[in-house]
Amino acid sequence: MSTPFPRPSTPPLLASGQSSPIPPNEHGLGWPAKSTVSRLNATAEERAEREKKIAGAVRTILECIGEDPDREGLQRTPERYAQAVMWMTKGYEERLSDVLNNAIFAEDHDEMVLVRDIDISSLCEHHLVPFTGKIAIAYIPGQNQLVLGLSKLARIAETFSRRLQVQERLTKQIAIAVQEAINPRGVAVVMEATHLCMTMRGVQKPGSITVTSCMLGCFRTQQKTREEFLTLVKGR
Ligand SMILES: [Zn+2]
Repeated sequence: MSTPFPRPSTPPLLASGQSSPIPPNEHGLGWPAKSTVSRLNATAEERAEREKKIAGAVRTILECIGEDPDREGLQRTPERYAQAVMWMTKGYEERLSDVLNNAIFAEDHDEMVLVRDIDISSLCEHHLVPFTGKIAIAYIPGQNQLVLGLSKLARIAETFSRRLQVQERLTKQIAIAVQEAINPRGVAVVMEATHLCMTMRGVQKPGSITVTSCMLGCFRTQQKTREEFLTLVKGR
């Protein structure tokens, strides 16, 4: 089944000779940019050079906000931040095909599989501040009887959340990744998150929660299946 969401074609990034049930064009990073690929392939020296560049930029920010980057508490902040932001965006270095490696099984199970309350923290691409929340992922295996190792649903969510995101796209990317990995009858993803860009600046609405969902296949076409999913997500 194809998804209703068009996407740019992505270059195959899997090393030649490896095989995987994911179609070749879907290997890799989701929606990569040119610089994503160069980061993925960076040598240790190139990586150090990147972090140095980020640290220089952070020093500029500190100066511009009216701070003294040379005062004791801030001296190592640029380097620390450079390392932190590389970690917080490490999803750009993870190939989905590696994440899912050896975790797709044939299993005689045709009922819904649901993992909920997966903690997520990501960075909003508009303000580069965090949004955090919980995500639930469900699927119903297809005729191929393929299932995913349960921990892999959380790993898929982790991979995509460690990139710059908007919540709507994060939700979609996770659903499409599951769809492409095992071609189930349907996939459902729902995410609830609090955006610091909303709660600590601008409109300042503390406690506001943004909910996004993505329904594919039978979750999209069958109201009963969708309702069962939503009941299970709420059942806590
Ligand atoms: Zn934002």
